[in-house]
This record gives sequence, structure tokens and C-alpha cells, in this order.
Amino acid sequence: MPRTVEVAVIGGGYAGVAAANRLAGHDRVAVTLINPRPHFTERIRLHQLAAGTHEAVADYRDVLAGGVRLVAGTVTRIDAAGRALTLADGDTLGYDYLIYAVGSGPADPGVPGAAAYAHGVATLEDARRLAAAVRSAPASAPLVVVGGGLTGVETAAELAAQGRAVTLVCGARLAPSLHATGRRAVARLLGGLGVRVLDGPGAEAAEVTPGEVRLADGRELPAAVTVWAGGFAAPDLAARSGLRTDALGRMVTDETLTSVDDPRIVAAGDAAAPAAGRYRMSCQAAVQAGPQAAETVLTRIRGADPAPLRVRFVAQCVSLGRQAGVVQLTHRDDRPARGFVGGRTGAAVKELICRGTLHLLAGEARRAARRARRTADGAARPTLATGRERRPAA
Ligand SMILES: Cc1cc2nc3c(=O)[nH]c(=O)nc-3n(C[C@H](O)[C@H](O)[C@H](O)COP(=O)(O)OP(=O)(O)OC[C@H]3O[C@@H](n4cnc5c(N)ncnc54)[C@H](O)[C@@H]3O)c2cc1C
Repeated sequence: MPRTVEVAVIGGGYAGVAAANRLAGHDRVAVTLINPRPHFTERIRLHQLAAGTHEAVADYRDVLAGGVRLVAGTVTRIDAAGRALTLADGDTLGYDYLIYAVGSGPADPGVPGAAAYAHGVATLEDARRLAAAVRSAPASAPLVVVGGGLTGVETAAELAAQGRAVTLVCGARLAPSLHATGRRAVARLLGGLGVRVLDGPGAEAAEVTPGEVRLADGRELPAAVTVWAGGFAAPDLAARSGLRTDALGRMVTDETLTSVDDPRIVAAGDAAAPAAGRYRMSCQAAVQAGPQAAETVLTRIRGADPAPLRVRFVAQCVSLGRQAGVVQLTHRDDRPARGFVGGRTGAAVKELICRGTLHLLAGEARRAARRARRTADGAARPTLATGRERRPAA
């Protein structure tokens, strides 16, 4: 009788949960998800957490398939040769296949003082610290957000909508990933919220001190709290474990999301750098890549060849406080199109997307439960673990 295949998933974010749900309920496939926290982090709401408009957490019982074993812990090393993981508490966990979905955190700011004196918004812990710093700053104190990308824009707007005095330092251009149409709408809405937008030549942060941000052109901005939203990079777990990564720390994979170093390791979400079809770090890509990573594993277990990754983008969504938003339509490859939805409708669409993402995960969890029932009834028996399981070709 074929034995149970153990699949470990590192990282319980959008990609990891989506992957675990797609794997759950299959005959003789056991899934373990390892995440530092026992609850799900809604990373796309961390700017709301910083401004006090949302907790940005959800219960795993609402989004994760019941059949998935959840381990609260942090993986500190992947032993690819021994197919084992070491956890921070010293425990080890063996696996047959591994899905690497550790997401991302703040990229190295590379600006003096930024790491020491600026707050991040990229992880739950950073956003909680930022929220505490904002709460303890006087209501009229100047706040500076560095980073004119979508995370910086959302954070600046959310804080300004709470009555805070916010300056947004963009570097060369505000919201560079948007089409000029969407960018103009974002600029107008930021203005309406009272955000002072600094962009153009010299508007790069050159130094952060405890009470100030100095720009490249010498301007000095008083800052009771500085927020650093200067881009994301993946954690160094893969690199520390001897697996190949790109300049942003993402695991280098082939077009099926399989590590170029080990066919038993498959990556997804912000932490994956596929050879073909590379995508922007985003929730939008993570919820598509997670299930496809799971399919790669399931296909290998069946002894077949996995399909190449396909990620399709629809829009770039920016909230500007709770009352406004800009949803910039995009081509499938993420290039911005001309059309956008703005104002209150934009805010409503963005909110629907945030909620819809959790519904999407919950839907996959329900499908896993149905699959598990069918498997228990014996109806799905022949689909997997047919005894043909073979080592994937290197
Ligand atoms: C403020 C903000 C707003 C955003 N808004 C949007 C948006 O509107 N639309 C959009 O598409 N994207 C948005 N993003 C980006 C989006 O959140 C990420 O791209 C997305 O979360 C990536 O999903 P993921 O599953 O790859 O990683 P994550 O959601 O980051 O999940 C990774 C998980 O792995 C865990 N982990 C890390 N290391 C280890 C380890 N060693 N052991 C165990 N677990 C580990 C982490 O703690 C985390 O729980 C936003 C991001 C931020 C910060």
C-alpha cells in the first residue's frame, strides 16, 4: 500500500494558505503549515493597522482547510539533502515535498539612519510598532512616509485620513507603477486628504535621524515618526540554506515554481523568482501562485510533468483612506492600462477585493473539506498515490 506523502509549507500568508488548501484532502497527502503566528496576517491591511482602522489579522479556522496541521514556529534552516526543516525552538520536521512561501519584509533601506530610526509597515510586528509610535505622537506632530510606491501611498493616506499631518517623500515620481490617469487621481486624492507630496529631482531620502528626514537636495523635514515604505525583499532563509536566490532574496525556480536546486522544493508568492513569468510581489500574484505550486507538487506525486506557471493581473488597487481609492486597470502582464475606477467607488472595490481575498482562501478550504469527504468515502482513491510515485527528475 502506498505510504502517505508529507508536504510541508513554510509560511502561512496568502500563497502558503492557498497552497496548503489546494493540497489538503487528497488521498494519502499530509500537509503541515508552519507559520510564526497562530493567526493569519492580512498583510494588505497593514497600513490600516498602523493607522488604527483595522486589526489586520484573521482566524486560521476561517481560511485554512481543517485537514492541514498548523505548527506555530519559525523555520531557521532547510536541509534539502536530508529533506528536513529545523525550527527556532530546536524541533525538526521531515518532508517529502516542501512549499517555500515565506513572503517578504522590508528591503534594506541603504540610507543612513533608516534602519535605526524609521518604522516599517511590511510585517505585522513592524506595523504594530508603527501604530504604537503614531498613537504616542501628539495629534499635530509631523509624520513622514518615505516611498512613493503603492504601500507608501496607502500608508500616507490612511494616516492623513485620521487627521495626521503627513508628508510623502516619493523620490523621482509618485506611484510609478500606475498609468498617468491613475497617478493624477491618486495625487488629487492625496491632496484632498492634506498629504504633502514631495517628488521630482532631489526628493529622495538621504538620511533619517531621530527627529528628521533629510532629502538629497538638502531639504530637512521634521518627523515625529518616520515610516519607511521603500520596497520589499524576501527573507534570507533560502540563501542561508544554500538554495539559489535572486538579488531580492527570492528563491530561483523554473517555470513550474520548482527550485532550480532541488525538485522536491517548490516556491510561491513574494518569495519565488520564476525563470519565466516573473511577477510583481503582490497578494494578487500570491493567491494565484500558491495553488499552482500545490499543483506542481500533486502532479509530481502522480508521476507526471507539472504545467508552467500562469499569473494574470487585473488591476492595481490603492486605498486612499476609507472613503476613496483608485483601482487602475492593468493588462494581464501587469502593465497599467488607461482605465481606472476612482473615488468612493474605487474605495468600495478595494474593500471588496480585501474581503474577497479571504473568501477565496475560505472557498478553497471548503473544497478541500469536500475532497477529504470524498476521499474518505473512497470515491477519489485512484487519483493519487497510485504507487507510481517517483523521484522527480532533477
Ligand atoms: C501595507 C501593505 C499593503 C499591501 N497592499 C496590497 C494590495 O493592495 N494588493 C496586492 O496585491 N498586494 C498588496 N501588498 C503586498 C502583499 O501583502 C504581499 O505581496 C503578499 O502578502 C505576499 O503574499 P505571500 O503569501 O507571498 O507572503 P506573506 O503574506 O508575507 O506571508 C508569508 C508568511 O510567511 C511567514 N514566514 C516568513 N518567514 C518564515 C519562516 N522562516 N518560518 C515560518 N514562516 C515564515 C511570515 O511570517 C508570513 O506569515 C501590500 C503589502 C503591504 C505591506
